[in-house]
Amino acid sequence: MGKRKIAVLPGDGIGKEVARGAVEILKAVGEQFHHEFQFSYGLIGGEAIDVEGSPLPQDTVSLCQNVDAVLLGAVGGPKWDENPPQLRPEKGLLQIRKSLNLFANIRPVSSHSSLSDSSPLKKEIIENVDFVIVRELTGGLYFGKPSGRSVENGEEFVVDTLYYKREEMRRILTTAFELAMSRNKKVTSVDKANVLESSKMWREVAVELSKEYKEVTLEHMLVDNAAMQLIRNPRQFDVIVTENMFGDILSDEASMIVGSLGMLPSASLSTSGPNLYEPIHGSAPDIAGKEIANPIAMILSASMMLKHSFNMVEEAEAIEKAVDSVLAAGYRTADVQQFGKRTVSTTEMVELVKAALAEDNAITNIMSAYA
Ligand code: NAD
Repeated sequence: MGKRKIAVLPGDGIGKEVARGAVEILKAVGEQFHHEFQFSYGLIGGEAIDVEGSPLPQDTVSLCQNVDAVLLGAVGGPKWDENPPQLRPEKGLLQIRKSLNLFANIRPVSSHSSLSDSSPLKKEIIENVDFVIVRELTGGLYFGKPSGRSVENGEEFVVDTLYYKREEMRRILTTAFELAMSRNKKVTSVDKANVLESSKMWREVAVELSKEYKEVTLEHMLVDNAAMQLIRNPRQFDVIVTENMFGDILSDEASMIVGSLGMLPSASLSTSGPNLYEPIHGSAPDIAGKEIANPIAMILSASMMLKHSFNMVEEAEAIEKAVDSVLAAGYRTADVQQFGKRTVSTTEMVELVKAALAEDNAITNIMSAYA
């Protein structure tokens, strides 16, 4: 296998801690399966503001444009909360999505049987849940212009614009239909068509496209109902597709099915350049530096990278299996702690996954080293 170039953008807070863990796991996979992964590091977010005066320096964009895939930790933190809009860490995140044309964010949600007690939901509700949220990532309220504060006739006002081209809706909905074809052939299109003009067009495009995917069942669901259905009966979903902000909110909600934000990975796909892989969580300033962040969302994002960008299916599945076996063996970071289970730090969790990758019984050996 040839060399694969990976850009790593750790970002801020726990982004750095979990990105370090994912790189460790990728190095182990590289050795085990004889692949050469070459890692190059770039600045993004708050640290990039401090060092370069910009949340997304041009060097970082150039780096990402010249690799096979990008791994991103998370950005943000209270230090930069009062900065003007252009100097907010989150701006770096939005800009990298736009620069790499990452229009589709794929967020798989499946329950792990060994974590069923970690979810605030009842066991019988979360059992065998397996769906994917397809979130539009480069349009909608987070990008529309005008956006900002102003004063008119002495009165302060604020505006955010929800803007989508028909074609932008078509391409994300196409991604969802294609994904459904490889799964259980059901698409739930989430919108607010009873109120929003953008949602009415979204629904029209979904119906148009469904004629090209006759095997796929299309259903429409209003976003408020979808928020409720995710908790009431998450097993009903196969592929959920929705616009940027609705997808952002619904996927955080969906993380409670698995038990923690620290468990859910994502892939951001583009039509042309490299894809980007990142956990769905943020930089978690409340736990940053404490060595308690759950690295699994980031590790599983790296596994998605192997599968989607490098077609290394066996390698990706080896990571998933290693994570499952560590959880099944009873090890947990604090966010998914359960009575009677062993709490481990971020580094310990990474070491455990590495050990499980290498050989099944190594988990016991490695933990005795920590005892
Ligand atoms: P957050 O996702 O960072 O944290 C929400 C809660 O979940 C916190 O209590 C945190 O401790 C916990 N949590 C998140 N990831 C965890 C993990 N891996 N292990 C254990 N616990 C975890 O969201 P927030 O607190 O609303 O935002 C914090 C900062 O992150 C803000 O600056 C926000 O703008 C930014 N943010 C960045 C991204 C991103 O980089 N993709 C996404 C969301 C928020």
